Amino acid sequence: MKKHNYSAGPCILPQEVFEKSAQAILDFNHSGLSILEISHRSKDFVAVMEEARALVLELLGLEGKGYQALFLQGGASLEFLMVPYNLMNINGKAAYLDTGTWANNAIKEAKLFGETVIVASSKDQNYNHIPVDYTIPEDADYFHCTSNNTIFGTQMKSFPKTNVPVVCDMSSDIFSRTLDFTQFDLIYAGAQKNMGAAGATLVVVKEEILGKTGRTIPSILDYQKHIKAESMYNTPSVFAVYTCLLTLQWLKKQGGIAAIEKINEAKANLLYSEIDRNTLFKGTSAVADRSFMNATFLLENPELQESFDKMWKEAGISGITGHRSVGGYRASMYNALPMESVQVLVDVMREFESVFSDQSQLAQ
Ligand SMILES: *Cc1c(COP(=O)(O)O)cnc(C)c1O
Repeated sequence: MKKHNYSAGPCILPQEVFEKSAQAILDFNHSGLSILEISHRSKDFVAVMEEARALVLELLGLEGKGYQALFLQGGASLEFLMVPYNLMNINGKAAYLDTGTWANNAIKEAKLFGETVIVASSKDQNYNHIPVDYTIPEDADYFHCTSNNTIFGTQMKSFPKTNVPVVCDMSSDIFSRTLDFTQFDLIYAGAQKNMGAAGATLVVVKEEILGKTGRTIPSILDYQKHIKAESMYNTPSVFAVYTCLLTLQWLKKQGGIAAIEKINEAKANLLYSEIDRNTLFKGTSAVADRSFMNATFLLENPELQESFDKMWKEAGISGITGHRSVGGYRASMYNALPMESVQVLVDVMREFESVFSDQSQLAQ
């Protein structure tokens, strides 16, 4: 039986993406060849890459606005260093908002390239909220933020207005909600959380911000070289890019980002209402900053963990154990997770309360 998959990433994808990619491994486009054995320069794969890149810009509303979409490799983690390599001037500086583990990893890499100003951090409260009221230095080469903090379950609901280029790690909430994407100059995201199989990294960059640092950039790390080569500078992750195309086509059929956003909101509201209502659970992040993708929550009485774990596993739920730095539980509700799966989790939480609420009170 198919599990209710709450994994934080790699994670659930639409069932039709699994089916179509399985088919393409056996026979791609009725070519008599597997997608795993064709040249990335073949007509059929060039068409996949072109459509995937175009669909990204179309779905984000960035067509004809000076942006390029690239499918690279190395994960979001390689972007942590490609961003400063391509955007930080020699003797320049960059501004970072520290909202969690991934933001911190990005900062670590930027420090190798120049001065890194941390405009604000919520580290002293274990990243349970998004800092407000900070100033971005006017002379920074760019400002970097993380739209959704996968581990801590917080999400930026708005983004600062600034004259410096804005770079955003959207690994865990890209294509999940409508935003004015023109406010960003560079967006990057590992594919494996809302877009496709692990192995591809999406970069969407406004071309005019590139080529200004005076640095000599190794070819494979140079966004301009990848743009020139139409995202085929070297062999791309053919299969992962194909799964991204299938997911983007699925998303377009659903009605695009605006349609999926409504469903994502309904899913998140259902689960957070139960976390707030249920006497045995509590949320870990500030209510105003709660992530609609990754809901983090704890048991009021940790001694009941074994009993709760047994109950959700029996209900066919998979992957809700929290990250070790937060503990408790994390339910990742990416685009492809059906509402029905959230209902199953909420039903388990209610059932758990009806069985254990007496014991919980005794223990307190
Ligand atoms: C998962 C994640 C990363 C790391 O992605 P990789 O593709 O494994 O390098 C970076 N940032 C965020 C916000 C993430 O959720």
